[in-house]
Amino acid sequence: MGKLVLYNTLTRRKETFEPINPEHVGMYVCGPTVYGDPHLGHARPAVTFDLLFRYLESLGYKVRYVRNITDVGHLEQDADDGEDKIAKKARLEQLEPMEIAHYYTERYHDAMRELGVKSPSIEPHASGHIIEQIEMVKRILNAGYAYESNGSIYFDVERYNRDFRYGRLSGRNLDDIVTNTRELDGQSDKRHSYDFALWKKASPEHIMRWPSPWSDGFPGWHMECSAMSTKYLGEQFDIHGGGMDLMFPHHECEIAQSTAALGKDSARYWVHNNMITINGQKMGKSLGNFITLEQLFTGSHAILEQAYTPMTIRFFVLQAHYRSTLDFSNEALQAAEKGLDRLMKAVETLGKLKAADKSTADVSELSRRCADAMADDLNSPMVISALFDWVRIINQAAEGQQSFTAEDLEALKSTVNSYVFDILGLRNEKAAEVGGKDMVSPLVDMLLNMRMEAKANKDWATSDKIRDNLTAIGIRVKDRKDGFDWEIE
Ligand code: ZN
Repeated sequence: MGKLVLYNTLTRRKETFEPINPEHVGMYVCGPTVYGDPHLGHARPAVTFDLLFRYLESLGYKVRYVRNITDVGHLEQDADDGEDKIAKKARLEQLEPMEIAHYYTERYHDAMRELGVKSPSIEPHASGHIIEQIEMVKRILNAGYAYESNGSIYFDVERYNRDFRYGRLSGRNLDDIVTNTRELDGQSDKRHSYDFALWKKASPEHIMRWPSPWSDGFPGWHMECSAMSTKYLGEQFDIHGGGMDLMFPHHECEIAQSTAALGKDSARYWVHNNMITINGQKMGKSLGNFITLEQLFTGSHAILEQAYTPMTIRFFVLQAHYRSTLDFSNEALQAAEKGLDRLMKAVETLGKLKAADKSTADVSELSRRCADAMADDLNSPMVISALFDWVRIINQAAEGQQSFTAEDLEALKSTVNSYVFDILGLRNEKAAEVGGKDMVSPLVDMLLNMRMEAKANKDWATSDKIRDNLTAIGIRVKDRKDGFDWEIE
């Protein structure tokens, strides 16, 4: 297997990735809470972990990638009190909560497909795993790290902190957490403000509820990920991922729950992507800079100067290292659009290059640079920069200033295709595909070969007719001394 070094957020250093079972890498990533349209903030974790998923597979690992759908238990302000986000949307829209969850799950899937994000191996829903969550709450209670209060179950952070350490992932200690949480108002069932709900008793008006040994209620938000990762990946698995915004409290609580129930932290490598800012500001509904993916794809938002294609967004995300912040602006996206266009044109040019007797450049340089960059904590910007150095060489080859033997040409095509399409997961949006296959190129080539024959026979009428008709549908034909070239405008 190829080598991979990953930055582990838990240990705060880069570590060589050694899976528990190389035949079966387990990866769990926190998915969306499905109560609204997928937005720019969803694109980054999805693309980041898609890159990791694709790269692990390219190294030869078999990966079981679990990404959940949160359809219950995620309350307003990520708190223990308040209305369920999905139930609230359902109330406002006068629909069943599951209609909301289903509708936005489909919207999420559509957007992910557009972005070239591969479907995970398993996509479990929190509402479909209530029994597993109740079982895990029981284990935590039996281990002595939780208490019951008026039908709700809370995690006993102080007790846990005595035996293990609460705050290891986010680097906080309990004293900081105590000073930074507000005092209880006397209305709460919790002993301490920093305790968190594992199971909540439902108030009479709460719609989403299930029976449990303690009350009719619903699981706390953090519970689903501990229960579902254990169910599908086992008590210990390789990688747990998500956005940096989930580190505290969500992932911190997941670690505490798993450790309390199983005696150990489930995940070996914690991987977090950084956030997207918009013109230097955090994205938020109240700031008026909240952009859905559909608005980006259609250009229908006041701060957008134009529409951006899904691949432009994907390329833009990949141009930054996943642990760096990424600032969205029209200029940055326009630059990404231009860069992607140049890259795709070079891929087309490469496909048309003819072999020569000797090579003027070392094609193994590209594969070495790309492999080294990916192995070093998924350095996609370095991969892109290596590809662009080769875009220049490929364009020079088209002008006759560089050449490659047949063998080198095949090797170069294989490296470029593997990184551009399989690992970075880009696709050529301008290439018209039929059933996933490029049918346009062979047809245009066939017509242009017929035109060459017509020209050879001095049948100028047919030759002009073919060129004019292609121009009319947006295909520009360029004559070259040894044949032709064409591009879609
Ligand atoms: Zn989660």
